[in-house]
Amino acid sequence: MSLMASSMTTAVSSEAIARYEPVIGLEVHVQLATRTKIFCGCPTSFGAPPNTNVCPVCLGLPGALPVLSRQAVELAIEAALALNCRVNSRSIFARKNYFYPDLPKGYQISQYDQPLAEHGYVDIEVGGVQKRIGITRVHMEDDAGKSIHEGFKDSDRYTYVDLNRSGTPLIEIVSDPDIRSADEAHAYLTAIKQVLQYVEVSSCDMEKGHLRCDANVSVRLKGAEKFGTKAEVKNLNSFRFLKLAVDQEIERQVGILESGGRVLQETRLFNVETGETVGMRSKEHAHDYRYFPEPDLVPLRISETWLSDIRAKMPELPAARRARFIESFGLREYDAQVLTATRAMSDYFEKVAAASGDPRAAANWVMGDLAGLLKADGKEIEESPVRAANLGRLVALIAQGKISGKLAKEVFPKMFASGKTPEAIMAEENLTQISDEGALGKIIDEVIAANPKQLEQYRSGKTAVMNFFLGQVMKASRGQADPAAVTKLLKEKL
Ligand code: ADP
Ligand code: ZN
Ligand code: MG
Repeated sequence: MSLMASSMTTAVSSEAIARYEPVIGLEVHVQLATRTKIFCGCPTSFGAPPNTNVCPVCLGLPGALPVLSRQAVELAIEAALALNCRVNSRSIFARKNYFYPDLPKGYQISQYDQPLAEHGYVDIEVGGVQKRIGITRVHMEDDAGKSIHEGFKDSDRYTYVDLNRSGTPLIEIVSDPDIRSADEAHAYLTAIKQVLQYVEVSSCDMEKGHLRCDANVSVRLKGAEKFGTKAEVKNLNSFRFLKLAVDQEIERQVGILESGGRVLQETRLFNVETGETVGMRSKEHAHDYRYFPEPDLVPLRISETWLSDIRAKMPELPAARRARFIESFGLREYDAQVLTATRAMSDYFEKVAAASGDPRAAANWVMGDLAGLLKADGKEIEESPVRAANLGRLVALIAQGKISGKLAKEVFPKMFASGKTPEAIMAEENLTQISDEGALGKIIDEVIAANPKQLEQYRSGKTAVMNFFLGQVMKASRGQADPAAVTKLLKEKL
């Protein structure tokens, strides 16, 4: 049947797919940003020579005892709170037994029936529609080592084991089966990544494997009550692959059902080359893992005081900050989204806004001119050569009429190139706005003298020619003249 299934995948019509509703739940693994491993003092640093960041505990040597890292627990709690979970006052570590060459203990230390936290959610938005995705649980566990495969010919093929990653602290975030499309899955993972980076629980660097995702997918006829049988696609290590794999899996399952087959409950792998998922093994069940409470660790107890201390140390979460930007700065929803995309972005904008006294103008400068120059240079906001206070001052100078908006647009790239203050650039370039009547009067006299025809037109009643003179004066002053002062003087002189 699996042969039939794979040959059917290309033949599935969009009409057939439209008759079904996908049901998706994600299991996301996140590496916590601790300095040391979860049960020993070995460093978690990336890229060390193979098998150098190891000790008897993370090598699983007999008699070595695990000691739980306080920092790992605190980061896991921060993650759980950021994901709106209830943190259990008591949770239990459990052994999940399986055999694999990169798992020297022969079991993973995880949590099973009493996890760290439960009943959370994240809000996503797809196509302008808001939706809440439930989070079933967040639990802590240790990571396995890495198998590195080398060579292609059977006679010359080796697998190496690197145990540097063994014992790295992870949290697993399990979603409710609330997701209904590949786009929603993408938005959900984006939201998780954003909020966890925001609270600095993890770098969530997918390239380094700090964020990994398994997608559980099933389909059912629209209107059906019961969920279909799910297949789990393992180890999706990019947002693009997540979307491709989910869509491909939906199509494959609809193909099977439409041709009268049955979807098997199994674990599948996404083949990056072909864009298809392939069966790996029939799904193991929880009882296959022989879970039992980890005898070497006491129950993890989290007191109300500890919890509230952690809560107090956490930054304002992006959703709350977004709401505040809209409420107290009068920003548009979209702008507030962009300006809270990362912690660094929110912090930068907030400083510009404070120094400028004009948050909405500040928002435009950050999202417009600054974002443009950063993008052209391939820089992140953290690397901005313009300090937030300096951009804020530039915006304030415009509001105070000390520089025109047009000139400010010339000053800003120079600030970006040099890192200097707006005042320094304006002084260097002689760009201070001219509102001194003597200096302006001289320029105006010259402009009038040079344009006798227009002067005559004006005097014969064509007052619209005023704009011509204003334009000429602005040009002659290289945009430095204060337009209000010029208009006033022109009226007198003409
Ligand atoms: P298992 O026991 O196979 O690990 P769980 O009930 O623990 O299954 O769920 C694992 C993940 O699969 C969760 O994210 C959950 O939301 C999701 N899930 C459960 N049932 C379905 C289904 N029928 N279709 C799609 N996803 C599902
Ligand atoms: Zn160790
Ligand atoms: Mg499960």
